[in-house]
Amino acid sequence: MKAYERLIKYAAFPTASDESCETCPSTSEQLVFARALADELKGIGCTEVELDENGYLFATIPASAGLEEIPTIGFIAHMDVSPDVEDRNVKPRVVSCDGGDIVLNEELGIVLSEKEYPVLEKYRGKTLVVTDGTTLLGADDKAGIAEIVTAAERLISNGSVRHGRIRLGFTPDEEIGRGADRFDVKRFGASYAYTVDGSSFGEVDYETFNAASLRVSVRGKSIHPGDAKDKMINGSTPRRLPLSISDFCRRSSVPNTPAAIRASTI
Ligand SMILES: [Zn+2]
Repeated sequence: MKAYERLIKYAAFPTASDESCETCPSTSEQLVFARALADELKGIGCTEVELDENGYLFATIPASAGLEEIPTIGFIAHMDVSPDVEDRNVKPRVVSCDGGDIVLNEELGIVLSEKEYPVLEKYRGKTLVVTDGTTLLGADDKAGIAEIVTAAERLISNGSVRHGRIRLGFTPDEEIGRGADRFDVKRFGASYAYTVDGSSFGEVDYETFNAASLRVSVRGKSIHPGDAKDKMINGSTPRRLPLSISDFCRRSSVPNTPAAIRASTI
């Protein structure tokens, strides 16, 4: 199966995460997809296929004979999609990108235009998987999963590419900032790992940003205005804050460094 065919298959699973839900995974739909993915990984010959109680799915591509001792590398992608746009009833289709407008939905007048999305220029002459414009496609990050699983299938079925042990990791709840929270790094057991959650052709991000966030509730003191002098306390008064915003930013900041490189050999 080709990677884009897998993406289309995966798009049928609604897997939006939900920030308001404290469970892990935050939505049960992600587990439905994870179980189907686990079955698929077993079917293509992966070993050690394990879905843990938090919805993290790990699997192994065994090393080629004689290469069992070289360091294990890992590939990671996330199973959830953004909750911001509808992800049910996705109607994916393959279209060619020739430089003109791509009409996603004639009835609703939804058009993907190069003018609005200049990045499309790079994809002229290629095919794209699109929706009817009313839903997410979910390529972030089901395209990453599709690419990893397709690569795994090829490596397992075609022994000509010799490789060490490869671990695969599929996480829930990345879109709501919790993807790494319960990732069992030790159990994953890779010396190096790459997240396949990309943007442009040939682009490799070699670092990330600190996505720490802070939610502050400050209580002031309310009192009838007629009697408020020296008694009412404004909640936004700096001395009421346990940790100043600037202090938080200083502690969580990282130096500005380039976030991506283009690797033409990739
Ligand atoms: Zn992503």
